[in-house]
Amino acid sequence: MLSVKNLVHVYGNGTRALDDVSLSVPTGMFGLLGPNGAGKSTLMRSIATLQTPTSGSIDFDGIDAIAEPEKLRRTLGYLPQDFGVYPRVSAYDMLDHMAVLKGIAGGKERKETVESLLNQTNLWSVRKKALAGFSGGMRQRFGIAQALIGNPKLIIVDEPTAGLDPEERNRFLNLLAEIADNVVIILSTHIVEDVADLCPRMAVLAGGKIQLEGAPAELMERL
Ligand code: ADP
Ligand code: ADP
Repeated sequence: MLSVKNLVHVYGNGTRALDDVSLSVPTGMFGLLGPNGAGKSTLMRSIATLQTPTSGSIDFDGIDAIAEPEKLRRTLGYLPQDFGVYPRVSAYDMLDHMAVLKGIAGGKERKETVESLLNQTNLWSVRKKALAGFSGGMRQRFGIAQALIGNPKLIIVDEPTAGLDPEERNRFLNLLAEIADNVVIILSTHIVEDVADLCPRMAVLAGGKIQLEGAPAELMERL
């Protein structure tokens, strides 16, 4: 369970991007819906320990994200918006390299990890292809494979469906739903349909404040 309490983030120029945000996120897929500028990325980056909030607290299964960020990072998978790839590296080699960085040193364990992630994300057939040649959908699925290295229990996915065609979007969201069995996945998006079908719980963020929180079926008529 992720618990965010009274989170405030004020940027250097005075922009109050998060204004007293509190959220409880249980295991499974959780949709964070909001228009551009709502504060979604700021909240995602704060939970991913990439920026320190002005005030408030973030706790995941007893780990204090602000006091012990390196501990949370060990159980965190993060797929940022617009993540960069090394264009000439193959999907296999990149995952293998990242597994080394994550401390999966044993050759056999690493091979099994990389192969299982490639299969899970349906990228096995393109594992030797350079990342520069990947379609948008393939790229996002590769991003998820990267985020899953080391079996994280908290997965943050920031606006992953932007620019995907409907088929790839569904494929990507279904992949997330498959993973969501016993982990917390937070999916931020400005597309209502992304959260409507697959997220049992959701919240709406606008102007740095949580406007609504609940099950999509209850909230949709109020959007
Ligand atoms: P979203 O992801 O929902 O589009 P963001 O978290 O990116 O929202 O932005 C929330 C608000 O904070 C916006 O008004 C944005 O312009 C502002 N903002 C984001 N990053 C910065 C920054 N580094 N410095 C100043 N303002 C920022
Ligand atoms: P997507 O569903 O994202 O389109 P696919 O795996 O179906 O992903 O393949 C998308 C693209 O990747 C296709 O344009 C195809 O040319 C290329 N591709 C698929 N399999 C291979 C492969 N084994 N080697 C090289 N390119 C491939």
